[in-house]
Amino acid sequence: MSQPTCAERVEGEYTRTVSDLRILWELYCTGDEDGDEDLGRFEDYGLSFDYVAPGTFTDQDEGYFRYQLSWGGPSDEFRFYTGPEFYPHRIEYWFLDWFDGARWPVHGVDLRFLREIFDWFAEGETVQSVYDAAMVDWSPPTDNRQTCDECGDVIDFEDDDAGVGYGINQRALCGDCYRDEYPDEDDTD
Ligand SMILES: [Zn+2]
Repeated sequence: MSQPTCAERVEGEYTRTVSDLRILWELYCTGDEDGDEDLGRFEDYGLSFDYVAPGTFTDQDEGYFRYQLSWGGPSDEFRFYTGPEFYPHRIEYWFLDWFDGARWPVHGVDLRFLREIFDWFAEGETVQSVYDAAMVDWSPPTDNRQTCDECGDVIDFEDDDAGVGYGINQRALCGDCYRDEYPDEDDTD
C-alpha cells in the first residue's frame, strides 16, 4: 500500500492545524499564561517566522512571509503574500514531504483569523524586521528564462525596457508591456 500523497493529506492537516491555532489564540487573547496542556502556548507554537525573498526557490517570482509550524518529514507552513503595505491579500497553507507538496488556500473566516495572526507578528515589528533581513543582500533574479507577468512571453533582456521589478511584489515585464504600461517615459525629444 502506498503512502497518501500531500495532496490527499493537505485538507486534513490544514483543518487540524487551524483548529489547534484557534485554541491557542483564544487562550492567548484571554490572557491565559499556561496555554493548552497538549499544545503549549501560542507564543511558542510554530518554529519560525521569516520572509522568503523572490527567487529563493526555482520559479518562485513572488516573495512571501513564512510561518513555519513543523519541520522535517513532513513539514507544514503558512505563506502570507502581501504588497508593500504588508497586508496579506492571499494566504496559503502548505503541507510538504520531501519532493512532494500541496497547498490549501485559506479563505472565509479562516482568512480573517490568519490575518489576525499576521497582525500579531506585524505589531511586534517582526514583519518589518524579517523582511529587512531577507532583502538586505537581495538582488533580482538574473535568470534569462523569466517570463513577463503581463503577457507571459519569455523576457528578452537585450531589450532595455524589459526588466524584473525590485522590491516586494513587483512585476517582471517584457519590453513591449513595459512601454504599454509606462508610455510617458518615452524619450522623444
Ligand atoms: Zn509582456
